[in-house]
Amino acid sequence: MGLIVQKFGGSSVANAERVMNVAKIVTDTYKQGNDVVVVVSAQGDTTDDLIAKAKEINPAAAKREMDMLMAAGEQISIALLAMAIEKLGCPSISLLGWQAGFQTNSVYSAARIKKVDTTRLKTEIGNRKIVVVAGFQGVNKYDDMTTLGRGGSDTSAVAIAAAMHADKCQIFTDVDGVYTADPRKVKNAKRLAEITYDEMLELATLGAQVLNNRSVEMAKKYNVELEVISSLNPIPGTMVKETAKMEKMLVRGVTKDSDASRISIVGVSDVPGIAYKVFSLLAAKNINVDIILQSIGRDGTKDITFTVNEANADEAVKAIESLPFIGDAKITRDDTVAKVSVVGAGMETHPGTASTMFEALFGQDINIQMISTSEIKISVLIDRKDADKAVAAVHEAFFGND
Ligand code: ADP
Ligand code: ASP
Ligand code: MG
Repeated sequence: MGLIVQKFGGSSVANAERVMNVAKIVTDTYKQGNDVVVVVSAQGDTTDDLIAKAKEINPAAAKREMDMLMAAGEQISIALLAMAIEKLGCPSISLLGWQAGFQTNSVYSAARIKKVDTTRLKTEIGNRKIVVVAGFQGVNKYDDMTTLGRGGSDTSAVAIAAAMHADKCQIFTDVDGVYTADPRKVKNAKRLAEITYDEMLELATLGAQVLNNRSVEMAKKYNVELEVISSLNPIPGTMVKETAKMEKMLVRGVTKDSDASRISIVGVSDVPGIAYKVFSLLAAKNINVDIILQSIGRDGTKDITFTVNEANADEAVKAIESLPFIGDAKITRDDTVAKVSVVGAGMETHPGTASTMFEALFGQDINIQMISTSEIKISVLIDRKDADKAVAAVHEAFFGND
């Protein structure tokens, strides 16, 4: 008995039957004597559909209005789930993000949670209600709706678990755990019993959308253990925690990010301060820069190449063009790239990891455009059309094909 936070993603609440299935899981947990807070996402593809509706009307819509629109998806889910729970004979109440105490900053569409005021949550739990909270959303100091960025409901669940000191935080989804690669793409991907926060953070950041990376960051910060578990087949899932058994694994997973764009500044003056000025401007615009490569200067000029998320590429190019020293330098942009990465704490002490990965790519005749490494990951930038083939080949090199 204790307080359990259960989060259900879009596919888990996609239709009436799935909503009833979730209500059954939640009420079973409640009937065992637990207090339950449920966090839900918008049904199925609702968020994508809402974004498409906005694009039809104004592709450059203000982010504030986008948040107002996107937050509507979760409002539908919470009401429907509360009704389903009521039908199964348990008391329930649905709460929007602001009602549940989610206070955020004002970065619309990518807001960060500043605080969860748990007063209302505690009152409702005290009344023995199953509290159903809209994920992905909060309110800023202007009383405006904000959203936390795509996949943000995971973060809402972890934030509640941290603020309420929950005994358990379960992330229910449409796969039965975290795998060594996306199980929908790689047939022989293996389910992991455990994975560390650091490894999961890298995997999530590098493209494995099974958990949102900010949720993992927050789980690590507040030491909230997460269980990634299937809503359709609720056998024990994958535990995400501080330390995890290595199971003799050198790497923990292989992942891809197909939303990358490569931007190059070719022939910029080879003088001090250029990289600083370029990347501080991008940081000021909240644009995350990933792999960076700078050539050795020649004839007084050098080239700087880096990757950003494709959604930020327009803004990044415009920002760089506005820099006074760009002058005759040429700015090029390539959206046909993808990043493939291997992640694992074990690779730090195994010098052969990079060569195993590169050999697998060579075996498929795949050219590497850029490379970046840290203690627990190796990423390569390749042609986007080769990404799935690359993931499969690299996965096979590390995990075999049985
Ligand atoms: P939800 O709607 O429940 O939030 P998501 O679609 O955001 O679910 O995340 C679940 C999906 O993540 C799975 O359907 C799977 O295809 C994908 N995925 C990508 N990489 C991995 C991985 N390494 N392990 C498990 N699932 C993964
Ligand atoms: N509904 C939001 C999205 O599609 C949040 C989430 O699913 O976590 O991104
Ligand atoms: Mg998700």
